[in-house]
Amino acid sequence: MPDLEITQDESNAIQAEQVKAYYDDANDLNIAGMIVFSLLIFVVYDAIPWWVWGPTLIFLVLTSLGRAYLIRQYHNTPASHSIRFWMKSQAIGGGLAGLCWGITVTAMLMYVPLTYQLFVLMVSVVVAATSTSEGFSLVLPSRLFTVASIGPITLWLLTVGDRLHTVIALMLLLFIPVTIVLGNKKNHIFLKAQRLRFKNETLVKELSRQHELLESASQSKSRFLAAASHDLRQPLAALMIFLEQLEFERQLSASGKDVLEHAHQATGSLCTLLDGLLDISRLDGHAVRIKLKSFAIQNLFNELEEEFRPIARQKGLRLKFSPCSAIVESDVILLVQILRNLISNALRYTPSGRVLVGCRHRHGMIVIEVHDTGIGIAEDQLPRVFEEFYQVDNQERERQRGLGLGLSIVDRAARLLGHSVTLASKPGKGSVFAVAVPQAKAAIIEEQTDTQQSHEVAGLDGRLIAIIENEGSIRVGLQLLLQSWGCRVVVADSAGTMINQLDTGGEAVDMIISDFGLRGTMNGVEAIARIRQRWGADLPALLFTGNISKETYTLAMNAGLSVLYKPAKAVALREAITTALGGGKSHGERA
Ligand code: ADP
Repeated sequence: MPDLEITQDESNAIQAEQVKAYYDDANDLNIAGMIVFSLLIFVVYDAIPWWVWGPTLIFLVLTSLGRAYLIRQYHNTPASHSIRFWMKSQAIGGGLAGLCWGITVTAMLMYVPLTYQLFVLMVSVVVAATSTSEGFSLVLPSRLFTVASIGPITLWLLTVGDRLHTVIALMLLLFIPVTIVLGNKKNHIFLKAQRLRFKNETLVKELSRQHELLESASQSKSRFLAAASHDLRQPLAALMIFLEQLEFERQLSASGKDVLEHAHQATGSLCTLLDGLLDISRLDGHAVRIKLKSFAIQNLFNELEEEFRPIARQKGLRLKFSPCSAIVESDVILLVQILRNLISNALRYTPSGRVLVGCRHRHGMIVIEVHDTGIGIAEDQLPRVFEEFYQVDNQERERQRGLGLGLSIVDRAARLLGHSVTLASKPGKGSVFAVAVPQAKAAIIEEQTDTQQSHEVAGLDGRLIAIIENEGSIRVGLQLLLQSWGCRVVVADSAGTMINQLDTGGEAVDMIISDFGLRGTMNGVEAIARIRQRWGADLPALLFTGNISKETYTLAMNAGLSVLYKPAKAVALREAITTALGGGKSHGERA
């Protein structure tokens, strides 16, 4: 039962509603009362002297006109008087109209024979009952009408003295409180409904306020994640580039190599965490362009099998992909990301046994399932494992055991694609994660998936690459790394400096790599556009940035640029460069 305690404001609003409801119907009651009164007089007027009904008829008409005027005024300008005024004026009007009825009807009863008396009484009672029943939203006017109209009649009936008149008088004595009580009951129901309505409105307002708060908290969180990961990405990018460089150092001692290996592992973990955060904030901010197309599941399976076979072998697990001829409609990159997370979890949480990936047809959908014979998940944990950073039994937060982001990325990506993800698991027996993907409608010609396309690998030897990067350490690191791959490099920390250098050098560059945030007035996207204006619109370019905001992503996409997020492993950077140079797949977009 909701709490119906109401505030003063709500109480005022309820009174206003009462008045409104009453005034909406009051004109009909007012006019009907006047007509019935006139008809009543028409029936008996020749049996009684005119001065019995004439003055009261005039008075009732005047009262009714006065009430009609107030009703009109209320409808035109409800704020012209206080709520109390509108309430009181109708109560006075009701009382006066009742008095006209009471006095006239009582006088009539003294002159007319019994049959007419019964008719007059019946009409009076019906009118009083109707007034109480219809005016339930505001009880005072009808209460006063009933008492003023029936009261004098009852008193006269009691004075007559015979049995019939006395019984009728007693009945009327009963009628008055009963109609008032019934009117009150209807009024209570009306008031309760109004209270509920206002409570609901308050609740809805409170809910939308909470919703707005949540929204803004979530936006703040995304902004924080984006900003934090941007600030972390810059130095980490530099660190990774330098570590890659160190690996080429031949003089490293055995212990130095060991230290380097650990440093690699630590930066790898950081990189994975930042990538997870990046995925989450991009999926949350819808900064991902979904490209739906039809493709064969088997192509995905082949690629994933190749990727995970070495890991399974290293753990002594059997990894099996059942052949699948289904063609589905989805976004290849997001679907691969979902399956990659599910398969890597299956391998991680399976100490022995096997991991099986397969698909089955169900109600026009292709359900891709990842089965494992691993540790399983307890029933009470099942709904929680899709939450961000939630890990079962990893209070110590050991990094080798993951970060608790994998399944929340699966959940968000699947929601973006409209694919449902289900999970069934038994502790000690294993788990089954299933993703339902729509089957492709039209038969399609077998095509390679984006993730599989072979691309021409362009040689880097001797290529002239322009690097615009405002962070000194990353600029130096990139320069050294690219030079170690055989590239020639020209570096600058702002668009203006780079344009000057290129103009002075005069030699056409093969590619531009630019950060987004640069020294000077231009950002990376604008810098690339300006250089392309001078050196050709199809000059290969890559935006290499730690800025993971949706706005930056959209700017880059609109400019048709590939994006590679910092920190990136050297191999990813090399792949993005060769892709841009060779015109192969645009991997960087989601790198
Ligand atoms: P993590 O990086 O810890 O793997 P996830 O979000 O991918 O984060 O998973 C959340 C938790 O769900 C994990 O900590 C693990 O306890 C549980 N989990 C996920 N997949 C499996 C699985 N195949 N078998 C058993 N437990 C799993």
